[in-house]
Amino acid sequence: MEIYKFGGASLKDAASVQNAANIIRQSGFKVVVVCSAMGKITNALEALHHQYFNHLPWGKEWLEIESFHAQMLADLYANMPEALPAAQDELVQWQSRLHRFLSVPRSATYDFVYDQIVSVGELLSSVIFSRFLNNMGIANTWLDIREHILTDTNYRYAKLNWEISQRRLELAFSEIDTQIVITQGFLGATTMGHTTTLGREGSDFTAAALAYMLDAKQVTVWKDVDGVYNADPKCYDKPQKLDQISYNEAIELAFFGAQVIHPKTIKPLQNKNIPLFVRSFLDTELQGTTIHDIKGHLELPPIFIHKKEQVLISIQPNDFSFIVEENLSKIFATFAQNGIRTNLMQNAAISFSACFDYRAEKLDKLLDDLRANFIVKYNLGLELITIRHYTQAAMDEMTIGRNVYLTQRSRHTVRFVLK
Ligand code: ADP
Ligand code: ASP
Ligand code: MG
Repeated sequence: MEIYKFGGASLKDAASVQNAANIIRQSGFKVVVVCSAMGKITNALEALHHQYFNHLPWGKEWLEIESFHAQMLADLYANMPEALPAAQDELVQWQSRLHRFLSVPRSATYDFVYDQIVSVGELLSSVIFSRFLNNMGIANTWLDIREHILTDTNYRYAKLNWEISQRRLELAFSEIDTQIVITQGFLGATTMGHTTTLGREGSDFTAAALAYMLDAKQVTVWKDVDGVYNADPKCYDKPQKLDQISYNEAIELAFFGAQVIHPKTIKPLQNKNIPLFVRSFLDTELQGTTIHDIKGHLELPPIFIHKKEQVLISIQPNDFSFIVEENLSKIFATFAQNGIRTNLMQNAAISFSACFDYRAEKLDKLLDDLRANFIVKYNLGLELITIRHYTQAAMDEMTIGRNVYLTQRSRHTVRFVLK
């Protein structure tokens, strides 16, 4: 068995869906296909949630989502008009469930409501894709992953119960008789049956988790790039493709923010030695990148990871004490309570610095809370650049002529916060 994952970009319009169908048709073995929401629908659902939760009009956001999927069906079935009405009926049924949810008084819990709304992207996507494949003669079973992946109630960042999920999945798969199974990434459900999500960009992780629990031979994530490069090809002129990297290298890259792989994806694969292929859905002839167990040393070029819109905060105790455990635990607790995840931190005798993604709605509260115990200064609009396997030339290229606020260097990695 193999796992395929198709992200939003690979299902963004009818031609892309058709292309994904062709890739699946050519697979020739048992494949579990993990689908993301189509195109940018997750962002659209987030906007819908924002309006709804804040008692603002949400008709425009609803219409955008509804018309995107209606257009998708119209385009997909342009040459199969006889199959269109049934596909439309199915779509309307799923959308009506969401509409009913939005029409009754809302729960007061932001993250719970978020998951009930935003999860619909993956459900619609997989339902549309599964039916389309069946209509194309590619027999498949649609699986509601929420009945199998059990999570805790940490809505938006739910954690898997691996043992129970594995047992449920094994049972479900023992009863499926098609070669192809279509399911959703990013979703799970609590013991009460409430839908949860696993964190933005979490479909890569679902693919890895399924591979682990079902003992798959390999995982392929189909992307709009033909592999992992030494920098984001959308931002660099001459990026170098990496034919292979180790699990550990991939974990480091994802952890530091390389968007191409979700950070939680690699560990389950590494634990069972399951290789991960990053390949292009635009050109399936290309080799892609293999992430696997590499024994010994693999020479790699400098690898660049950029994070924009960073805040750098500097925190000093207002009672002139040193930055030691007691102060650090207060600082960490304040960050955690405000839901802020740091991308980098550094401490000196009397000050602690941290860098994190700018979130307008969270910053003021964080600053107020910290100022109860500390003197706080901060800078906005910064960039965090990480270079793995740095060289002097690579560091110069990133820093010359720029204002460097903070540098952190270890044996293989250097990080700069700069303007
Ligand atoms: P998906 O649709 O599967 O979620 P993503 O958009 O998350 O795919 O990941 C693919 C994108 O990652 C590419 O379009 C590319 O711009 C970006 N990217 C960032 N860093 C890298 C890198 N080092 N190598 C390849 N792609 C990268
Ligand atoms: N659709 C979700 C997102 O955009 C999950 C994913 O695509 O990985 O974050
Ligand atoms: Mg992604």
